Amino acid sequence: MKNVAKGVSPLALSNYVAVMPSNSWEQFKKSKARRLALQARLLLDQGGLCAYCEIDLKPACPLGEADLRVEHFHPKSDGATGHNWHLDWQNLLATCHGGSRPDVVDAAQRHTSPDHTCDVPKGDHNWDNVILNPLGLPHTPGLFSYERSSGSMKVDSGKCRTAAVDAVRAQETINRLALDSPRLRGFRKAALDRINQQLITMVQAGQPLEAARQDLARVLLAKNANHHWPPFSRLFAIIWAQQQSSSWPQQATLARLCMKCIPAKARQGESRGGSGVYWL
Ligand SMILES: [Zn+2]
Repeated sequence: MKNVAKGVSPLALSNYVAVMPSNSWEQFKKSKARRLALQARLLLDQGGLCAYCEIDLKPACPLGEADLRVEHFHPKSDGATGHNWHLDWQNLLATCHGGSRPDVVDAAQRHTSPDHTCDVPKGDHNWDNVILNPLGLPHTPGLFSYERSSGSMKVDSGKCRTAAVDAVRAQETINRLALDSPRLRGFRKAALDRINQQLITMVQAGQPLEAARQDLARVLLAKNANHHWPPFSRLFAIIWAQQQSSSWPQQATLARLCMKCIPAKARQGESRGGSGVYWL
């Protein structure tokens, strides 16, 4: 989970609320144009990523339905407060379907029932005082750390202290949204393995390791032309930081590469891991 910096409410929502302040979400989204305008604004604010798990939210295509739903952080069913949570812009997040829909795009990877995450376990629970809200997160430092070999996620208590964030609530966020599920561990590990393979390919072609890392970082840690982040971009940044703060020989669980495949000149600045090399 990374922070979400929300922009102003889209006109499609604010104009509707000005006329129909008591209407429901279901009434609002009956208009496809309104729904798409609101989704577009959510995607822009969130850089195209699920507000909870950071996978890329996918539009519908001929092969499947969109992996995107609009989540109400505070349950829209709560009528006791006298506030219309249905149409409160600050209460709306774009999330993935959490593995629940068999007709979603890329279903072979994304439909993982009964392994559900994100908005699916959250459902209609009021967890305002239990889990972290992406709108309230600091941009830095990242509050979570990751195990490179498995993609597993845990709370970084030190970073929580630095950011004055309750580590217990951070742990509840992982637990209740199932952010350390096999589904998401697998996605994260696969993303890291793909980048590691790109590094290997670049170095095998003769590019010095550090230059290859920097070239990849420029792409992985920046938004694209559509103002979307690459999926798990925060994960890459944290893994890189973890590697820089640890000694390379201890990265023994990371991807390995035959040293004979790599030109000696290109290996300057690499790890010193004996027969294995572990770059991401
Ligand atoms: Zn998600």
